[in-house]
Amino acid sequence: MLNKKRPRRGLMLILSGPSGAGKTVLSRLLLDEYKDMQLSVSATTRAPREGEVDGQHYHFIDEDSFRQKAENGEFMEWAEVFGAFYGTPRAAVEAALASGHDVLFDIDWQGAQQLKQAAASDLVKVFILPPSLAELEMRLRKRDQDSESVIAERMARARDEISHWGEYHYVIVNEDVQSSMNDLRAILSAERRLRKRQPWLNDFVRNLILPF
Ligand code: 5GP
Repeated sequence: MLNKKRPRRGLMLILSGPSGAGKTVLSRLLLDEYKDMQLSVSATTRAPREGEVDGQHYHFIDEDSFRQKAENGEFMEWAEVFGAFYGTPRAAVEAALASGHDVLFDIDWQGAQQLKQAAASDLVKVFILPPSLAELEMRLRKRDQDSESVIAERMARARDEISHWGEYHYVIVNEDVQSSMNDLRAILSAERRLRKRQPWLNDFVRNLILPF
């Protein structure tokens, strides 16, 4: 719940980790539980996949509009991945943070690094690890009917993603979803209380120690 009397600045919660580690499930549970948390919806020039909804999974835009927005500084960061452009819209994130809403990002290590340059002090970076690579492979196999070569490619990308674990503030080994959620609750609870995220304290303390 937002506290109107003691307004805090929102934080940017980044969840990274290899595909299959459990980021998507954890993101969904966080958004269900924390009603004042928003998911950052990126803009992209790639075509929507089946089942993807414009404005919900991505803002699907054409390349000219993307370039224009990038030139106008409307993205907090952007990158080209596999021939398509992806960017984090700045205005939505800044409005959310200023009004005390936390913003959740489900992005890879490259996006996280770029956001660090744009907004270091607002970031809380959490890396989600699988209990083992064997477990990760099992989850990937269970999840989709991908061919062997796609699974092998995802496993190679997983190793690459995992190699960036040291760039994160917190690391959670996702053995089971409930204990990972407990870890995330503890992280959020402490990070929301950081002095820099509690601007109301300045006036509060000034009044507290006013001379008679
Ligand atoms: P996909 O097309 O499979 O949804 O995403 C492809 C890649 O683009 C993923 O690695 C994803 O993390 C990355 N991506 C998605 N949105 C953004 C964004 O806003 N900025 C950056 N830098 N990468 C993104």
